Amino acid sequence: MLTTQNSAKHSLDLSDPLAKLRNEFHIPADTIYLDGNSLGLLSHGVQERVARTLQQEWGNDVITSWNKHNWINLPLIVGDKIGRLIGAPAGHTVCCDSTSINLFKVLSAALQINHGRTEVLSTEDNFPTDLYMVQGLHKLLGERCTLRLVPENELLDSITSETAVVLATEVNFRTGRRLPLAELSQKAREQGALSIIDLAHSAGAMPVALLENHIDFAVGCTYKYMNAGPGAPAFLYVAPRHLEEHSKPLQPLFGWLGHAEPFAFSVDYAPAQGIRQFITGTPPILALAAVDAALDIFEGVDMADVRDKSVGLSKYWLERMAAEGLLEHMPSISPSDAAERGSQLAFEHEHAFAICQALIAEGVIADFRAPKYLRIGFSPLYNSYAEIEKAVAALAVIVHERHYQRAEFQQRGAVT
Ligand SMILES: *Cc1c(COP(=O)(O)O)cnc(C)c1O
Repeated sequence: MLTTQNSAKHSLDLSDPLAKLRNEFHIPADTIYLDGNSLGLLSHGVQERVARTLQQEWGNDVITSWNKHNWINLPLIVGDKIGRLIGAPAGHTVCCDSTSINLFKVLSAALQINHGRTEVLSTEDNFPTDLYMVQGLHKLLGERCTLRLVPENELLDSITSETAVVLATEVNFRTGRRLPLAELSQKAREQGALSIIDLAHSAGAMPVALLENHIDFAVGCTYKYMNAGPGAPAFLYVAPRHLEEHSKPLQPLFGWLGHAEPFAFSVDYAPAQGIRQFITGTPPILALAAVDAALDIFEGVDMADVRDKSVGLSKYWLERMAAEGLLEHMPSISPSDAAERGSQLAFEHEHAFAICQALIAEGVIADFRAPKYLRIGFSPLYNSYAEIEKAVAALAVIVHERHYQRAEFQQRGAVT
């Protein structure tokens, strides 16, 4: 087992401007957590806020909290906090539902705005839920929604005047490859296509400039680099031109809390002004309170520093792996240029699953992605250079001494 307490500071940690933020988090004992790209760590602020929301707001103030604690506007308040991390102007981001559901809403909106065109263009190795949502819409809309898949490196050149929507995830969940959003958006606009960007592996890990890059729609998770908790509500962004130009309903999941006057309880749906119409039902207040508190940690944090540290951590990881002679056993499948990467690295090995289990047994939490990749996520708010050094040392023992061959590391659970 690893001991992360009481160890001498790594020289790279001493010059890290974000190093003190680690104290904001609950770091599990004897654990090096390198899976923040799947589920971020719990922070003390979230713990306190959820306890207060439970005891005071729900416990004592009960239903009056919808007004008294402004529960009713929490999706928009939290949305604006997320908006600041992704380069969105106020009033254009909402925190609600899951990324999958939000994809359904923005795909429907984009196809409706770009009516006359039917092709949703995406990449073969996009995150499956993104592709499933298009397949579901195709089942519903028939030929009014068709999916065309191309290899990631051909995406830009495949955008044509037939394309209705370019659906892309900025950072590939397996390889960590980062797509050039500015170029993608420019090509889409030249061809009259709309852009939908999935920021699941970007938001909270690096600067994002949605407005500046003229992205039409974006979605993403809050439970990864934003540390908002398991299954925390996702976000959805709509560009100003779509909210201003369209007074009609933009998305088909008409819900009472996206209605212009929910408490008039009228029979017919009429969309609320602005981003509010993208809300469907009652917001999950406990989970939203967690997102709200998780985002407070980003206040005063320069996302350029977050990106610098993310790049620093991944470079250091590769350096240490090279020094340990590991890269010839398990080559990186991530781009070699850090500028083309998100905040993770992935390595290929026939026994990647068992290696990951052996790492977990040593207190190093990484994850495995089928069929044969070990994924290492770097969360600049709480990971340290000292952790990287120790984790790679543990990996070296496992790989060089073939500890991964032990029977106990071959057992797979329902979630991998
Ligand atoms: C994690 C992830 C999701 C998850 O979607 P949910 O609906 O929140 O489960 C979606 N897209 C990408 C690219 C992801 O990495």
